[in-house]
Amino acid sequence: MPDPAPAYPIFDADSLRAWIGGLSPVRASLGSTPGDWRIREVGDGNLNLVFIVEGPQGSVCVKQALPYVRAAGPSWPMAPRRAFFENAYYKAVAPHVGARIPRIHHYDDALYCTVMERLSPHIILRQGLIEGRRYPDAARDVGEYVAHAGFFTSDFARPFEEKLAGVALFAGNKDLIRISVDLIFTDPFRESVRNRHTSPQLDAVVRDLRRDGPLKVAAADCGRRFLTDAQALLHGDLHSGSVMVTERDTRVIDPEFACYGPIGFDLGAYVANLLLSWYSQPGHATPADDRSAQQRWILTEIETFWEAFRARFLALWAAHGRGDALPAAMFEGGEADAAALQAARVAFVESLFADMIGFGACKMIRRIVGFAHVADFERIADADIRARCEARALAFARLLLTHPRQFRAIGDVLDAVPRA
Ligand code: ADP
Ligand code: MG
Repeated sequence: MPDPAPAYPIFDADSLRAWIGGLSPVRASLGSTPGDWRIREVGDGNLNLVFIVEGPQGSVCVKQALPYVRAAGPSWPMAPRRAFFENAYYKAVAPHVGARIPRIHHYDDALYCTVMERLSPHIILRQGLIEGRRYPDAARDVGEYVAHAGFFTSDFARPFEEKLAGVALFAGNKDLIRISVDLIFTDPFRESVRNRHTSPQLDAVVRDLRRDGPLKVAAADCGRRFLTDAQALLHGDLHSGSVMVTERDTRVIDPEFACYGPIGFDLGAYVANLLLSWYSQPGHATPADDRSAQQRWILTEIETFWEAFRARFLALWAAHGRGDALPAAMFEGGEADAAALQAARVAFVESLFADMIGFGACKMIRRIVGFAHVADFERIADADIRARCEARALAFARLLLTHPRQFRAIGDVLDAVPRA
């Protein structure tokens, strides 16, 4: 099928070179003349073009949204306006998350194109985990990141009028919200042409999953919460492929799925992908390294992530709780009031833990039986070994969704993973 002509030019190396040549500050930061720049497309995601442009003095990263899903081709059209929401997200959280996001040099709303800081020598966290590498600060950094981005965009920090303006703005990202609703909460739990799984090894397990009424109710309920509980501005796709790391630095990228929703959705994405990594590790074992030490480290990361989030969220609340939700002004009558307020805040954070577990489980399932899979498993060449890893991850995700009462604290998760 011929590509439908897009309504805006799609960059290749030559046209990008010319365009950037006209952006004076960017041109100056690269150095020399456009003809000397090295340009390569490095996009490995499902949706967009990503170029690295290197000059003698510096480099930038350029991301352009395509009018269709890259992983599927032009037969699956997708509004490129997601680039606008990616930028709007970066703008909204920038005052709260410091240097955890790339610096944005330029955004062109007609070309759906962003020129941003090139992160180097950072690599995608997922790749590092697959290679058996460890990043001592990543879990803490991302946990604190979610606390900052979530708290400061919530009704706990702001007058509701401000938050509603954000809700109204990001409601426009409905094409991507549609993808989340379909691909996370719906398709994996029914027959769909977009689904795939390691077959025939997982056929019976997948058939059984799609007949599990209580599981489907639990997943659908998470989907309902995703659509209705606008607690804060979410990154919307905070998996280990949206985090770039060095051993000393952690950055969050790719917030094109940004929308208002439950904070546990972002928490769940990160935890789910740590769990997927844990379950995939035996598939990457070598005679020299059975990956059991890497698995133990991943479990400590899960705990660090949650504890860092929890502590930072409560600390921010104590220092900046000036919003309209749970207003501090109602609790100024002395010690008993202060204790009641603090108990309510702790209870709210506990509810985020439960949400993290539910959303995390949905995200694990979609990566094994849905449309978009993860390299952690895809890189396991032997289909039998891959299927064994995937089946165990799937079983654990089902347990999380259908027996939430067994998982009340992070220690419950850490205990259950190696045993399940
Ligand atoms: P998509 O939305 O298509 O998934 P991403 O924003 O995740 O695109 O980018 C795809 C890839 O491009 C990333 O996995 C990473 O390797 C690379 N990349 C993205 N942003 C940067 C950046 N700022 N610096 C360096 N590399 C980047
Ligand atoms: Mg993306």
